Amino acid sequence: MELWYIQDYINEYKMGLKVKETIFQGKTRFQEITILDTYLYGRVLLLDGIAQLSEKDEFMYHEMLVHVPMFSHPNPEKVLIIGGGDGGASREVLKHPVKEVTLVDIDEGVIEVCQRYFSQLGRWDDPRLTVLIEDACQYISSTSEVFDVIIMDSTDPLPHGVAEPLFSPEFFEQAFHHLSPQGIMVSQMEPPFFDVDRVKKLWEGFNVFPIVKLYWGLVPTYPGGIWSYVIASKSQDPRRQERVPDFPTRYYSPAIHQAAFVLPSFLEEMLENQKRDEENFS
Ligand code: SAM
Repeated sequence: MELWYIQDYINEYKMGLKVKETIFQGKTRFQEITILDTYLYGRVLLLDGIAQLSEKDEFMYHEMLVHVPMFSHPNPEKVLIIGGGDGGASREVLKHPVKEVTLVDIDEGVIEVCQRYFSQLGRWDDPRLTVLIEDACQYISSTSEVFDVIIMDSTDPLPHGVAEPLFSPEFFEQAFHHLSPQGIMVSQMEPPFFDVDRVKKLWEGFNVFPIVKLYWGLVPTYPGGIWSYVIASKSQDPRRQERVPDFPTRYYSPAIHQAAFVLPSFLEEMLENQKRDEENFS
């Protein structure tokens, strides 16, 4: 009997992966955690039934989520990762000569399971990494820390889900006040072609920042195979690289950094703010 994982995160769209076996299934206080072994993508992490990453292409997502903001900043020393419990984002950040990385994830169950089943992900024993098990909404409203880069690597903003409050203008405004003058924030931004209204709403939530841009990259595991990211900064032009990699990367490159900001005109039109920013740099 064939076993399939069918993802129907987008109501009218389904994506399927043929499954060898279910490796882990469990429930924490916050979400259901499943790990599948699939023929095409290797191990896949599901949270509440939604694919978060696969062994095969997680590098594409984590390299683009992390290295575009990190190389746009002249000297990122203190970095905050919101979510990121699988360890992929922190693994990439720690490749940079940062001083401190704070990872705030609400669910230690995700961290524990990913440490057990995804050995290529985290660098959990790096002394520069501090892991806090906390709701990032609480954290951002109570911390006095100021960061150079904030990376939002949370689950999708499902209605009434734990991640939903993270995608609010209030949260982005609080994050803004916890960024240094050259501070940069990036967030995974949902599939740009399925849920244009949601992307637009999230985009507008970043209005507190003077500079907001959208970039995109391939992630075959995610709906439609393309993923978008929103990057917002206080003063830096995120298209300009301040430094280049001195470590190997498999997706990110200086050329990809530039190309990722080139959007199809229908997306540009959707984000009329994009033109507003051009004025900021003219
Ligand atoms: N890369 C994946 C993606 O783009 O969908 C997500 C990576 S990671 C698995 C997402 C993490 O966000 C989970 O570990 C989850 O526990 C965490 N998370 C969700 N809501 C949160 C909140 N309010 N505060 C802190 N972490 C949260």
